[in-house]
Amino acid sequence: MTSSHDLFRRAETLIPGGVNSPVRACKSVHAEPLFIASANGSALTTEDGQQYIDYVMSWGPMLLGHNHPVVAQAIADTAAKGTSFGAPCRLEVELAQAVIDAVPGIEMVRMVSSGTEATMSALRLARGYTGRNGVLKFHGGYHGHADAFLASAGSGVATQSIPGTPGVPQDVVKHTHLAHYNDLNGVRAVFDAHGADIAAVIVEPVAGNMGLVLPQPGFLQGLREITRAHGALLIFDEVITGFRVAFGGAQAAFGIDPDLTCLGKIIGGGLPVGAYGGKKEIMEYIAPKGTVYQAGTLSGNPLAMAAGLATVQTLATQKYDVLAQRTAEFSKELENILRAKGVPVWRNHIASLFTIFFTETAVTDFPTAQTSDADLFIQFYTQMRERGIYLAPSGYECAFTSFAHTDADFERTLEAARAVRFS
Ligand SMILES: *Cc1c(COP(=O)(O)O)cnc(C)c1O
Repeated sequence: MTSSHDLFRRAETLIPGGVNSPVRACKSVHAEPLFIASANGSALTTEDGQQYIDYVMSWGPMLLGHNHPVVAQAIADTAAKGTSFGAPCRLEVELAQAVIDAVPGIEMVRMVSSGTEATMSALRLARGYTGRNGVLKFHGGYHGHADAFLASAGSGVATQSIPGTPGVPQDVVKHTHLAHYNDLNGVRAVFDAHGADIAAVIVEPVAGNMGLVLPQPGFLQGLREITRAHGALLIFDEVITGFRVAFGGAQAAFGIDPDLTCLGKIIGGGLPVGAYGGKKEIMEYIAPKGTVYQAGTLSGNPLAMAAGLATVQTLATQKYDVLAQRTAEFSKELENILRAKGVPVWRNHIASLFTIFFTETAVTDFPTAQTSDADLFIQFYTQMRERGIYLAPSGYECAFTSFAHTDADFERTLEAARAVRFS
């Protein structure tokens, strides 16, 4: 058996940093990544033969749990008929219909292969539709790794404190305006100065990449009103929240009508998928109906469509409110256990998402998220991992629960937390 350690040593010689996506390297928690051999339900099995209860869930897609039988069967059945045609197939139409039926703001949808592709395409469309260049994003918001969004981004970029990144021309990010999440006055100030050139505001309606941060009452409504008043589009990046915060996404939960919506993660059911959709009048600007070009050799791939369709159809039968209630109680107990150890704790939670911040400050935006004590997080992460609990290796991520997590999983996790010692 080759251990995770041996595989990582080898990977480091072959792949930059040994990983194909930076956060996986576990650098910020001073650990090495675990190499996963298989996953089932809420459980991961590593190449070392160890089992973990998973709260990363592939960073969100696995809301039904790993290796869900209906999804696995759909993939197997579809694979037997050929894996890519580069031509239309029935499953694309069926997944498009399922997405349009579920998400209130989507009247038409285009499939792509990642969340990054969805957000960058939505921005191009917004620019093409409005004839403007500017985009407003929020500090700590993550919208994939396209150039325009890598100013003050969350997730892996936040973890590594890269202020933007080399390789992105100043000429590109000069069109990216920044405001603080939950700060409508900041948004108004940007529009007062640059409103005539802002094509869109892009926002995670529930922020999930600076840790979990909820929109304060009126924030999303305010964005809707300001964008409308200035002729800019409102893009909801629901790559995490779509089909998770509610079946119809955060826009259904909060009753907001965005112009465009980006999806990913869950709608691929664990295969590489993204999608962007919205008002028909805007979506018809996309080629070949319109002139805004966007294409993809593997877009609408039958395997990915089958996995996504099986996932969405199965999710439609699940009790979201029950999982939300169980996750709220579990994360509350986790918060209590940690607070009793005398460390500062702040918990944000919604639906099947939560983040424990090691701070006493109310976390409402990126600067307040950054008050979380990184050293306490590392101690927590390390000791939970030693006890078989697999958390995201960064304090700027959400913990994800799934319909496969059992009460016994939660109890074992709380037991592990009770044993944590902070120094
Ligand atoms: C993960 C994520 C993306 C990027 O999706 P990829 O599939 O990793 O390219 C975009 N937006 C949000 C909100 C995300 O969480």
